[in-house]
Amino acid sequence: MSRFSSERLNKIEAYTPGEQPRDKSYIKLNTNESPYPPSEGVIRAINQKAVEDLRLYSDPTAKELRSALAELYGVGEKNVFLSNGSDDILNFAFMAYGAAGACFADITYGFYQVFAELYGIEAEIIPLSEDFTLDYRDYLGKDKLIVIANPNAPTGKTIPLWQIEEILGANPDTVVVIDEAYVDFGGESAVGLTERYQNLLCVGTFSKSRSMAGARLGFAIADEALIADLEKIKYSTNPYNINRLTQLAGAAAVRDNGYYMDNCKKIIKNRDYTIAELKALGFEVIDSKANFIFAKTDKCGGEELYLALKERGVLVRHFEKPRIKDYNRITIGSREEMEAFISAVREIVGEI
Ligand SMILES: *Cc1c(COP(=O)(O)O)cnc(C)c1O
Repeated sequence: MSRFSSERLNKIEAYTPGEQPRDKSYIKLNTNESPYPPSEGVIRAINQKAVEDLRLYSDPTAKELRSALAELYGVGEKNVFLSNGSDDILNFAFMAYGAAGACFADITYGFYQVFAELYGIEAEIIPLSEDFTLDYRDYLGKDKLIVIANPNAPTGKTIPLWQIEEILGANPDTVVVIDEAYVDFGGESAVGLTERYQNLLCVGTFSKSRSMAGARLGFAIADEALIADLEKIKYSTNPYNINRLTQLAGAAAVRDNGYYMDNCKKIIKNRDYTIAELKALGFEVIDSKANFIFAKTDKCGGEELYLALKERGVLVRHFEKPRIKDYNRITIGSREEMEAFISAVREIVGEI
C-alpha cells in the first residue's frame, strides 16, 4: 500500500478471485463458469455494427435489456436494476443499507465480509450448523442488513422460500438481500415475493447459468423504492455502468432463455453423475442445488487433493478456512470434463 491510502483501506483483506492461470490449459472447475458457450443469438448480436457503435456511450437506462428481463421475470421495468456484474449490486447494497450493521453466515460468499470492511460496517457473522445448514430462526428480528446466498456458496445448500418469507416478515424495517447467483440450477427464486415485501432485494447474475461471466452483467429485482436507491448510487458513480456489447448480449440471452435453461438441465445431470462417482470413491458430498459441489474425503486433505488435481491439469477451488479446509469446491462442467476430473481423482486416491 502507498503511504497515502487510508487506514481502513490498508486493513482490508480484499476478495481473492479463483485463479485464472495462463501457463497451460486446465480443465477449469474453480470459478463456477459455464462450460457451454453463449447462445447463437448472443453471438449474432455482437456484430460489426455493434462494434462500430462503441464510439457512442451506452444507454444508461439499458432500456431493451431491462424490458426483456422485466418480461422474463413478470415484473415491471421499475422493479429491475442492472449492473456491471452482481458483485456491483452487492457493493451498492452494503453502501446503501449497511449503516446499522450487516449479518451473514460464517460460511458463505467471501465478498460480503469484504464489503463490510470496505464501508466500515459492523458484521455479525452467524455460524451455520454443523452440517452447514442455515437456521432461519437466527435471522429473525435483526435490525441490520441481512445477506443470504440461496443456494449458498460454497456449499450449494438452499433454504426453502417459506423460511425466507419468515425472515422478511420478521425484519420489516431492514433490507434482506437474497443472492441468487446459482438459483437456475435447481433452487427456488424469491423474485415472486418482491411484490409483497418492500424489504426484499433479489440479486441475480448472467455469469453462471447464462454463460456470460466475461461480459459482466448482474441484475436486481425488488420494490420500486429499493431500485430507485440503487439507481441513485449508479447515477452518482457510473451512469454508463453496462457497456454497449454487454447490453446487446444480455438482451439476446434473455430472448434465448430456453437454450440456457436446457444447459442448466445438462449441468444438473452432470452434477448427479459427479456426485455418484465421488460417493463411489468414498467421498462425502454435500447435496447441491448449484453448478458446483462441495466434497471431501478422509483419504487425503483438501489442499493435498487440490494440488494433486492441479498437477494433473484440473483446477478446483480450495479455501484455507478452518471449518472448510478439508473440502474442495468443484464446478460442474461438461460431461467430458467431469469424466476427466473423476479419472484424475481415482488416480490420486488410488495412489494413497
Ligand atoms: C459468482 C457469484 C456472484 C457474482 O457474480 P458476478 O460475476 O459479479 O455477477 C455473486 N454471488 C455469488 C454467491 C457468486 O458465487
